[in-house]
Amino acid sequence: MSNEVSANQQEFEFKAEMKQLLNLIIHSLYTHPEVFLRELVSNSSDALNKVRFRKITDNNIISPDAELKINILVNKENKSITIEDTGIGMSKDELINQLGVIANSGTLNYLKALKETGKQLDANLIGQFGVGFYSVFMVTDEVTVDTRSAEPFSKSYKWISKGETSYSIEESDKDSRGTKISFNFKEEFSEFADEFRIKSILKKYSNFVDFPIYVNNEKVNNIDALWHKNKEEIKDEELNEFYKFISNDYTEPLGHLHLNIEGNINFKSLIFIPSSAPPSMFRDFQDKSLHLYSNKVLIQENSTDLIPEYLRFLRGVVDTEDLPLNVSREVTQNSPVMIKIKNVITSKVINLLEEWADKDNEKYDKFFKEFGSLFKTGLNSDFSNKDKLTELLRFESSKSANGELRSLNAYVAAMKPDQKEIYYISGNSRELIEKNPNLEYFLKNDFEVLYFLDPVDLFVMPYIFEYDGKKIVSIDKAEIEDLSKDDNKEKLEKTQTDNLLLEFKKVLNEQVEDVVESKRLVDSPASVVVGKEGLDPQFEKMMKMMEKDFKASKRILEINTSHLLIKNLSELLESNKNQELLHKCIHQIFDGALLIDGILTNHVDYVARNTEILTLATKK
Ligand code: ADP
Repeated sequence: MSNEVSANQQEFEFKAEMKQLLNLIIHSLYTHPEVFLRELVSNSSDALNKVRFRKITDNNIISPDAELKINILVNKENKSITIEDTGIGMSKDELINQLGVIANSGTLNYLKALKETGKQLDANLIGQFGVGFYSVFMVTDEVTVDTRSAEPFSKSYKWISKGETSYSIEESDKDSRGTKISFNFKEEFSEFADEFRIKSILKKYSNFVDFPIYVNNEKVNNIDALWHKNKEEIKDEELNEFYKFISNDYTEPLGHLHLNIEGNINFKSLIFIPSSAPPSMFRDFQDKSLHLYSNKVLIQENSTDLIPEYLRFLRGVVDTEDLPLNVSREVTQNSPVMIKIKNVITSKVINLLEEWADKDNEKYDKFFKEFGSLFKTGLNSDFSNKDKLTELLRFESSKSANGELRSLNAYVAAMKPDQKEIYYISGNSRELIEKNPNLEYFLKNDFEVLYFLDPVDLFVMPYIFEYDGKKIVSIDKAEIEDLSKDDNKEKLEKTQTDNLLLEFKKVLNEQVEDVVESKRLVDSPASVVVGKEGLDPQFEKMMKMMEKDFKASKRILEINTSHLLIKNLSELLESNKNQELLHKCIHQIFDGALLIDGILTNHVDYVARNTEILTLATKK
């Protein structure tokens, strides 16, 4: 929407969501007002990169010879600042469509949720939201953006806004290419109108911008590409700062690789493994990757062809002279150079992880807890590294403490001599898994059971199937030996058992695949296990989440014939009395087992029946 205000000035309303966003930003960012500078400088740096890239193939632009740089002028007296770049600039359309809108639709919801829970927006994350420019309204009441696009014959425009509800655009007289942002600081932020303060913020956040930055005409940054230096020359702090700069992260990385590869493929690279995964909505790694440089010139940000999807948590840069500068996405996708680089990086990263797993368990486990879910998916995509990836898997287990991780190798080394298979159980939490009656047999017999707590496990484990010649089987399906030999608990006689099983089958009828005497139950009266054709129960739950009409397969009900409740039922059956109570109990036992398995659908019946049974049990 726009109104003509004067001959060449038009007034525009922000979209409703933009207003909300501005409000949220201003109220969330007040603990880190200085991030405005990082965001503006990083926008300038992006704009400069775009021009540099364009100039490789096409010099037909406005001010083709202008130095690529960022010029900052601070005036203490006027409490003002201007940040000017010779970047790609913006056309009028771009001012309207890029500066006044939220690029990422998830952003607003995320911010709203944050506000509802009363949590603070992390100032360090603002750059990842695609709304960095607006942080400027933290420190000022009005901003002017004067810009001229690099396109030949472009006009220049002034965009002015108080950040509340609207902005105006008018033609201006800027004669050179690029963008100039100027404003006065609010009284309470006048501390920023200071050369030293601005320089120190730039040192902290923008030291690695690879265009010169001048503050009141003095150059303040060092634009040597870090990855071109020798390993010995680089200090740890420099690496950490560089990581923070390229990743928008504010914590130190867990580790890094500095590669200088020469031979049939040539490249230099600095690769970081972050110390934590980003918040869940950004766990979409689809479009994040390493940045691709050709001889120090950035040619592709987040070049997704540089690393396989399962390593997309990596951050860093790759610089190669083996690619032409004006390479397009289509070319990189199928280029043998890229494939070679990708293979080298993949194997170097796996080597580093193996080294951690070998020598620094704690570090490796931290990595695995953060990125394991994504990393594991390599098992069903990267077959050439399958064996290595399998060794790098970790799980909690019935023998690990809460949060402690075990490898398949450690599991097999600790297997009992008579154990033939590797057992697992899946579930949403350790607590739930440990209450599962099907585990009783394994605990009692001291068989270790792996806990698949991550839903991804169920997708990737079928690709492994076995380890060290031992099948990996769900405890619901594992072949188990009869415990009764060494168990002195008294069980029902065979005919009593047969009769009771028959009665159960009659009552439950179509609801079960079968009812059998259990070999695995120790303390619980009954449990359900997966039938012959059934999928893993956890897998079924996932299918159900994805497909509303998905029906869980029928279960086999196992009953524990040494349990007092089951014995009582047998007596009740033989006595031929109160068969109503007997049938209700049978239904209740079955539903209770489904409940623990997480697949009971009719909770209302379950509770109603419970009331009836209690009533019958308490009748005088
Ligand atoms: P982001 O930079 O994450 O996309 P911003 O809100 O900071 O989000 O900026 C929105 C858009 O405005 C940018 O994507 C870019 O198209 C444009 N823009 C901002 N600053 C500049 C600049 N200095 N030069 C050219 N374009 C810019």
